[in-house]
Amino acid sequence: AVPASAKHITLLHTNDMHARAVEGTSGEMGFAKLAGIIDSYRKANPDSLLLDAGDATHGTTFATLVNGESVVQVMNKMGYDAFVPGNHDFNYGYKRLLELEQMMKFPVLSANVKVAKDNTSLFKPYIIKEVDGVKVGIFGLTTPETAYKTHPKNVEGLTFSDPTKEAQAIVDELKDKTDVIVAVGHIGQDASSVDTSLKIVKAVDGIDVFIDGHSHTVLEHGLTAGHDTLIASAGEYTKYLGVVDLWVDGGKVVKKEAKLENKDTAASITPNAEIADMVASIQKSQETILAEEVGTASVKLDGEREQVRTSETNLGNLVADAIRDAAGADVAITNGGGIRASIDEGTITKGEIITVLPFGNQIVSLKVKGADIKAALETGVSDYPNSKGGFPQVSGITFKIDVAKPKGQRVHSVTVKGKPLNEKADYLLATNDFMAAGGDEYTMFSPYPQAGMYGSLDEALIAYIAKLGTANPKVEGRITAGATP
Ligand code: ATP
Ligand code: ZN
Repeated sequence: AVPASAKHITLLHTNDMHARAVEGTSGEMGFAKLAGIIDSYRKANPDSLLLDAGDATHGTTFATLVNGESVVQVMNKMGYDAFVPGNHDFNYGYKRLLELEQMMKFPVLSANVKVAKDNTSLFKPYIIKEVDGVKVGIFGLTTPETAYKTHPKNVEGLTFSDPTKEAQAIVDELKDKTDVIVAVGHIGQDASSVDTSLKIVKAVDGIDVFIDGHSHTVLEHGLTAGHDTLIASAGEYTKYLGVVDLWVDGGKVVKKEAKLENKDTAASITPNAEIADMVASIQKSQETILAEEVGTASVKLDGEREQVRTSETNLGNLVADAIRDAAGADVAITNGGGIRASIDEGTITKGEIITVLPFGNQIVSLKVKGADIKAALETGVSDYPNSKGGFPQVSGITFKIDVAKPKGQRVHSVTVKGKPLNEKADYLLATNDFMAAGGDEYTMFSPYPQAGMYGSLDEALIAYIAKLGTANPKVEGRITAGATP
């Protein structure tokens, strides 16, 4: 039983909100509802802290139109106590993240984001908060995957050090100064990842709670792992608010519990009216630009994550065609992971285009050897039929994938403009600047000098649709599976 003298502290947490500002159709609650639930918890227990585990400031036009500032305004009003940047929070460049930090009324924490030249931390590694007399140490960790999951220029001059080592060093430092140690990590639990929160809590003794993000994992009641650490994670897209209750006595956590609130469990809670007003007024200021019509789609343009990262889609073809057209190139390759949403049949708006292509990528052309086009396609389909951000959407190219062959030898029957690819010939290839810089493992492109630059990808797609008037792209067998002849 919990002694009567124990102090009760509540940690409220979010992660991977990806700027889902308003209620959606898949359980997204939006900021106002989230804030309403937070209010009710704060009322029940004023000794509450509100923490975010990253990927908050990017992901919808609500954020991208103003480079994240709108989300910061909302989070300030919601009264966050700390924020740990995720990989997507670097999407506007880390210098912009430092500007957002200046606007935030709460600290940005991360122990393993380092300035390469002097190995200092870019952000504060930790804070100690005193809550009802209890000293709570809170430190941040950011996935080292950020180094290659955002455009290299966004993190130029930064390194991401080993989160396990940093966690150990901080726990050593905080254990005698605090009663509770909370890690907030944009780290995740994907088995494919080198660093996971599970690995960290197994290696490091002394983390009471690990609030996690990045893998978008839904942990209904947390997960006890490693050295009796409670790992908590609240899914994605404002679908959940995480609630961790702690009871602390004699400088130790004597009981801890995790749960999640969602739109159903919190059905009776009213949204916070001030946040609702704030979101509405920000949306209103963006309305005119987003509503601008750019053309019509006579079919649904398929940009679903599971489709564009595993196969040719009609939207993938349209985007690749637009890139090739803008650059006047022989061929275009663009990463499926860079296509972030679908567009419904009917009128296409500027807002929809920016939602599909939110990264502000530029189009570049490179004069490349045919052999490197082949190598690029091999890289793109190395996980096929499994999902991969680097899956290639192509224009001017057709090819086949032989799934029976090992990685690196699966691509065959490549044609360029209807003729077999000549590995020794030069081709003018158009792509986005993320891939040209070696993103999504397209390292064969990075040594080539840029032959030309052609403005932003979203503007090129708008121009291409305007040229077509009506977009009616099809899946035409540019990419198919088939045995090597
Ligand atoms: P999250 O934390 O949201 O889960 P994640 O690490 O799973 O992030 P994804 O949503 O899978 O990230 O997005 C990563 C993919 O996004 C990359 O593999 C790449 O295809 C694409 N991507 C990221 N940044 C860019 C960029 N600047 N330009 C183009 N594509 C990008
Ligand atoms: Zn995320």
